[in-house]
Amino acid sequence: MALSSESSVDRESREKITVRNVSRAYDSTQALEGVSLSVGEGEFCCIVGPSGCGKTTLLRAIAGLDDPDGGSILVGGDPVTGPGLDRGMVFQEYALFPWRTVRGNVRFGLDRPACDCADCEARVRELIDLVGLDGFEDAYPKELSGGMKQRVGIARALAPDPEILLMDEPFGSVDARTRDRLHAELLDIWAQTGQTVVFVTHDIDEAVTLADRVVVMDAEPGSVQSTFSIGIERPRERTSREFVDYVARIRDELGSPIDTIE
Ligand code: ADP
Repeated sequence: MALSSESSVDRESREKITVRNVSRAYDSTQALEGVSLSVGEGEFCCIVGPSGCGKTTLLRAIAGLDDPDGGSILVGGDPVTGPGLDRGMVFQEYALFPWRTVRGNVRFGLDRPACDCADCEARVRELIDLVGLDGFEDAYPKELSGGMKQRVGIARALAPDPEILLMDEPFGSVDARTRDRLHAELLDIWAQTGQTVVFVTHDIDEAVTLADRVVVMDAEPGSVQSTFSIGIERPRERTSREFVDYVARIRDELGSPIDTIE
């Protein structure tokens, strides 16, 4: 796994993801219109916005799982033409294979999932350890809690050591305490790997807890409304004045009470 040695400021000044003027329509719905944004290398970027503003469409386009109608997306300067091992994706609903064990699901993320050489075995063990699932290697998804399933999803996405982690509301289905723990674990993993993270959420608190920068999107048509650089040291205290201020400013920008923007 690539460990980060440069400072995050050095890395962030290099653009890792460039989205230029991207549009995507589904029949009469303009899911994205003229969306432009850039994410620096090693940056943790959260995208927030109301339901239907195109967050998932944008993430899927960066992943190469969806083809925009217009504009371009570059990763490391190269146009995205499809999915690649340089981008790992974590889905809200886990998307695990129910017939595979934890080990089997994580193994599936490897470049060569069928390979059982010592290196691949060691890599799978390392990933299971990284996400705190020691002792559950042989469990099936139905035997795991939501938080544990999402740990498997994260380990699988990390398996090929991607430079970019794309996360689509990954903790939307877990309880608040588990989510707090997963936030801390994710930030630890990010600090160790130096990956570039794009994390979609409709939860402003979650975005301010995690992000270097929060991109606020607007709906109809889906577009970038504004961005906020979060200048608070980690770990962040949700009751701190700075934290509460950022949440209030982003909520104002969204123009809706937090519980109606889902
Ligand atoms: P978000 O993730 O912000 O909730 P989405 O990217 O899922 O937004 O969707 C943006 C808009 O595009 C919504 O109006 C949604 O209904 C529409 N949309 C998304 N995917 C499809 C699809 N496969 N077919 C038709 N409409 C879609």
